[in-house]
Amino acid sequence: MKSIKFNPDLCVNCETIDCLMKCQYVTFSDIAEAREEKLKINDGKDSRVLHECLTCYSCQEYCPYDNNPFFLLVERQEEKGVLPAPKPIVEEQLRMMAPKGRITKQAVSGPVVDMCAFPMLTGCVRGKLFEGASTIVGTDIFCNIMWLHFAKNSTIRERVPQMIDNIMSFYLKDSDTNELVCFHDECYGTYTSVADAYGIEVPFKPIHQFDYYNQRLDILKDHIKPINAKIVYQRPCSNRLCPQTDQVLDEIFEKIGAERVPRKYDRENALCCGGVPRAHQRDELADELVEKNINDMLSVGATYCVFNCPFCMATLGQEVAEQGLMPILVSDLVQIALGE
Ligand code: SF4
Ligand code: SF4
Repeated sequence: MKSIKFNPDLCVNCETIDCLMKCQYVTFSDIAEAREEKLKINDGKDSRVLHECLTCYSCQEYCPYDNNPFFLLVERQEEKGVLPAPKPIVEEQLRMMAPKGRITKQAVSGPVVDMCAFPMLTGCVRGKLFEGASTIVGTDIFCNIMWLHFAKNSTIRERVPQMIDNIMSFYLKDSDTNELVCFHDECYGTYTSVADAYGIEVPFKPIHQFDYYNQRLDILKDHIKPINAKIVYQRPCSNRLCPQTDQVLDEIFEKIGAERVPRKYDRENALCCGGVPRAHQRDELADELVEKNINDMLSVGATYCVFNCPFCMATLGQEVAEQGLMPILVSDLVQIALGE
């Protein structure tokens, strides 16, 4: 088994311990305490961080040296049997999201859009934005990054290579493209950040949905009717694995006339949608996060609440709509600007 890519010397010499000092959910009296807890994690000892962590992925982004603090934390949780969710829930999820072996060969041509395990979203791939696109979907190509929320690095190591093999042998190998457009940025995070840190080979080129839309908007610029609307954005945990794409999203918003209104819980300070603590049965915390987030959204005055992640939208969409904001996925907002 390959170990997580990680250099303990970087932490020993780290002056800021940003991975823990910036954490919004586990607090420390001072940097000395954060350092002590971080070194315990690195040395394979128990730490209260393993027990209190919300599994929000943010420390992956906070570390200025890309030293994979969250992936290592999950490794330690699993080694020590510190499960963030009750065991029966983890086992049920493991069964539910397991590959089913029902995949069959399908002729596809570029752009090939990976819809992960969300068949209900394939209708989003339509119109000029996705002209000529093929979609692939199902639990046999599920990115499996969700196991980071359940202390199951072993499942990532076991299933992700299988999924990659399925994507190649059932779809891409005989197609005209080696690129895979990831509709869900969890998939992009898996095939870039996770694969790199876990030593998993990826034989295709993952394309983030935002890079794809941004390029299409340049090609389709004569069709854009600016929406001239204020929006708030719910940045998901998985975007912590590809923070460079947040600037691409700004370019998209600018091109379609959407003003991303600054608010407290956006960008590096984004707040969890509440879906993961709900799945962990930490209901009080989930309620608190939803309330803080929605109050923050409402305080800045916007028309749309834009989601990147379908799971965030499922968690917050109804509450947001009841408060008068229109919940919408990035792709659908772009479609509106393209007159569709
Ligand atoms: S993981 Fe990064 S931020 Fe955290 S202590 Fe190590 S080097 Fe510093
Ligand atoms: S994953 Fe989130 S909650 Fe857990 S230690 Fe990192 S920043 Fe804190």
